[in-house]
Amino acid sequence: MTDLGSLRAAFSGTLLTADDPAYEDARAVFNSAVETRPAVIAQCGSTDDVKEALAFARRAGMPVAVRSGGHSVAGASLVQDGLVLDMRGMNAVSISPDGRSAVVGGGATWGTFDRVAQRAGAATTGGRVSTTGVGGLTLGGGSGWLERKHGLACDNLLAVDLVLADGRTVTASETEHPDLFWALHGGGGNFGVATSFTFRLHPLPEFSFALMLWPAEEGEAATRAWRDFADTAPEEIGGAALFITGPPEDFVPPELVGKPCCGVLVTSMGTAAELETLIAPLAALEPRALVLTDIPYADLQSMLDDPPGFRNYWSAEYLRSLPDEAVHAFCAAAERMITPSPSQHIMLPWGGAVARNAADWPMANRDTPWVAHPLGLWENPADDQRARDWAHHLRDVLAPWTTGAVYLNFIGDEGTDRVVAGYGRQNYDRLAGIKAEYDPGNTFNRWHNITPAKVSS
Ligand SMILES: Cc1cc2nc3c(=O)[nH]c(=O)nc-3n(C[C@H](O)[C@H](O)[C@H](O)COP(=O)(O)OP(=O)(O)OC[C@H]3O[C@@H](n4cnc5c(N)ncnc54)[C@H](O)[C@@H]3O)c2cc1C
Repeated sequence: MTDLGSLRAAFSGTLLTADDPAYEDARAVFNSAVETRPAVIAQCGSTDDVKEALAFARRAGMPVAVRSGGHSVAGASLVQDGLVLDMRGMNAVSISPDGRSAVVGGGATWGTFDRVAQRAGAATTGGRVSTTGVGGLTLGGGSGWLERKHGLACDNLLAVDLVLADGRTVTASETEHPDLFWALHGGGGNFGVATSFTFRLHPLPEFSFALMLWPAEEGEAATRAWRDFADTAPEEIGGAALFITGPPEDFVPPELVGKPCCGVLVTSMGTAAELETLIAPLAALEPRALVLTDIPYADLQSMLDDPPGFRNYWSAEYLRSLPDEAVHAFCAAAERMITPSPSQHIMLPWGGAVARNAADWPMANRDTPWVAHPLGLWENPADDQRARDWAHHLRDVLAPWTTGAVYLNFIGDEGTDRVVAGYGRQNYDRLAGIKAEYDPGNTFNRWHNITPAKVSS
């Protein structure tokens, strides 16, 4: 058993090992297929705790992982026999007096952040599920309903406070360590432990959404209509075309409950009355279910909260165009999705502020107009291969239209080539150089790993 004596003396948070009753709950992550068992879970309460736990791991020669929301489907927030820096206790959110910025603890969830910001009449782009961590999502880019208007979550960063592998604390911003600040716009958890993020906030507009459902057989016509709508929609509009299992909700007719459905979700920074006019071409296709309503932003942000406890396999592709042939391939591949299950077979529109100044940032192909995203959640381990096959099949059939790059937050562990593809060779090499400066020993290697460049002596 690990002797934690030297750490206990200096640590203000809680230290858990496998014999603690709280260990199993603390170890659980979103993807129930992840069985990794760390030796120590260090539930940090302060920046000093992070430094002490890192120093202990260094002395003990233990690998480390950093955990916030625990939503990495690859299980990147755990490490076998190593030490987990569990940031969930560092979740305070404070809004500046002028309401234009927020300082958010490195372990906060989007649910906490969105609700505090909403009370101050503000918001910024965040994840679409309230239990996802601000930390992992933002460092990996951060796609959300506001992105076409306000950019990815990382585009709204003003500063990040980090503890580096050697225990130094730094602030990265446009003026301090600007190279590191650049890398934190999609380079993920490769560079240090973020103890707090400072975000730009935007005035909170009214929000509404429309959700329409058709039987899966009618999905191709609906997806084509949605493509035409999203192609020219204002930046205030977000949403997705998706294939799902019809949920047991009042607005869903009994014949669709538990059955494969095609859905179109439209989110809007405007009222439901305004949205009704915009979605008229979609509503004309006679969806069997239609919800159109005003909604507070933070409620929209938790409306799709996925259930924990399922096995997960996710993948993604960027598409440079979405002609009818690609829509057909996308819709036909949905037949292989495991149903009934909470799995989703999604096509998201990018563009707008995601694409603006795309070349200034590390993620490749941010100016892609469409993102295909098979998101598998299922219960039975016997279906593991089926879920993978479906995701890979979708990638294969869309290959004629894909760019070759990928949004890394949306995939599990798919190997080094995919990590390089996420940035493009040139940006990957630049990130590797920055990694060599800030984490030369590759301490932070659990997220899609950027290997430190070899430094010539
Ligand atoms: C249900 C669900 C919904 C999602 N929705 C979206 C979405 O709408 N948009 C989107 O872009 N992505 C989404 N994702 C993907 C998500 O952004 C990534 O999985 C992300 O890594 C999760 O962050 P986390 O903090 O919850 O994860 P964790 O598993 O806790 O962390 C993942 C990795 O992030 C790094 N990390 C986390 N916190 C810190 C920190 N404070 N300092 C340094 N490194 C840190 C670490 O390297 C860690 O290994 C979703 C994932 C799930 C499971």
